[in-house]
Amino acid sequence: MKRKKIAELIESGDFGSEVTLMGWVRTRRDSKGGFSFLEINDGSTIKNIQVLAEGTLANYAQEILKLTTGCSVIVKGILAESPGKGQKVEVQATEVTVVGWADPEKYPLQKKRHSFEHLRTIAHLRPRTNTFGAVARIRNAMSYAIHTFFQDRGFIYLHSPIITGSNCEGAGDMFNVTTLDLQRVPNKDGRVDFREDFFGKPANLTVSGQLEAEVYALALGNVYTFGPTFRAENSNTSRHLAEFWMIEPEMAFCDLKENLDLAEEFIKTILASVLRNCTDDMAFLNRFVDKDLIATVDDVINSSFEHLTYTEAIEILSKVREGFEFPVGWGKDIQSEHERYLCGHFKRSVAVTDYPKEIKPFYMKVNKDGRTVRAMDILLPGIGEIIGGSQREDDYETLLTRIKEMNLDPADYWWYLDLRKYGTVVHSGFGLGFERLIQFVTGLANIRDVIPFPRTPMNLEF
Ligand code: ATP
Ligand code: MN
Repeated sequence: MKRKKIAELIESGDFGSEVTLMGWVRTRRDSKGGFSFLEINDGSTIKNIQVLAEGTLANYAQEILKLTTGCSVIVKGILAESPGKGQKVEVQATEVTVVGWADPEKYPLQKKRHSFEHLRTIAHLRPRTNTFGAVARIRNAMSYAIHTFFQDRGFIYLHSPIITGSNCEGAGDMFNVTTLDLQRVPNKDGRVDFREDFFGKPANLTVSGQLEAEVYALALGNVYTFGPTFRAENSNTSRHLAEFWMIEPEMAFCDLKENLDLAEEFIKTILASVLRNCTDDMAFLNRFVDKDLIATVDDVINSSFEHLTYTEAIEILSKVREGFEFPVGWGKDIQSEHERYLCGHFKRSVAVTDYPKEIKPFYMKVNKDGRTVRAMDILLPGIGEIIGGSQREDDYETLLTRIKEMNLDPADYWWYLDLRKYGTVVHSGFGLGFERLIQFVTGLANIRDVIPFPRTPMNLEF
């Protein structure tokens, strides 16, 4: 008989039919009447299904009475309307096969609640908990919604490279990729001789697929990437990972205003799809992680984003007399404490545009004032920066000047400069950190808990 998922069984209403289900025991409860109830979960839904195991089953005394949390079973039985309260359906077992035992003296996931910190040390078992199961299903539903969003709008999904020879941000926080023997690194004039390395030059893991996305946008119109990116930043915060997933749309014939509009529509569409498609998981998180979770997500969906320039943001922040750790001033970066203040001030999501060019990368379009660039950061309540984006510099000479100003070598960007030489167009795009958006919808405080296997400094178990 074909296996049925618990999610299906709970919805089916096919009472009286014979079913087979497979999953893991969450709890066992024995009745004085000589029968037992098993709560089984198979990961298809946060809900468990109740299995009634009668004492007349052949292996009742030898096996069923020894089942504990974590054991895997195959149950055959009849789907029935449950008389018990809180349960719509149950399976009256005709056969319970124990597949794998889980020694209760040793199995780390007993039915009590564990701290997130502890669960990180058993990342191979944590997806069996309600919270991590919910996060995994939500992450999956969001991935699907993201592809649907772009595919519905005619965007081409682009696979940008993982290994690159260019550094998008011009910053130093990259992982090197090498096949050199680190015990015997070839040297020339006191420096590493990369001519002997795999690519014959330094290589690294990508920090962003943007530059490559621009190449394809300037041929195909609208493209997006959705893949892993890597940053060797040594920042042990609750919002930074060394390996995280980024969504990067890039659009030709698109200015900053249209870029902002797409970003807002994107965030709202993805959030709304989670509320629509992940109702059980969201209800669980709303109950056990954050009582305001669904209301907060709803607020972002239903209120329009506040738009202001960097200069206006600094004016607002300058009026705050105390409470900030980092100084506020024109030319200084907006820190996450400031981002949270701005969202609180407007009581909604905020888009800050037109930053000083000194604190943004070389590729952003320089405004007429010569001091600011067409940058946009989008800030979500409680999270802070979720999106960084911009209109790109489309003028060859200006871009060349910016590359030199930032002490980068124009020779490294010859192909990127070519895009401005041949058929240049106004174009824009942004990068959204997938895990930060998952943090926002799930209410989980630490980014390490919304990715299956977090990579952070000094942490590479699993
Ligand atoms: P932050 O100031 O928060 O470090 P950033 O300015 O470095 O962000 P961008 O380079 O603009 O960020 O990257 C685009 C988006 O990727 C960010 O808005 C954020 O959502 C996400 N992001 C950036 N760095 C990380 C990281 N280390 N871990 C997880 N997400 C990140
Ligand atoms: Mn950063």
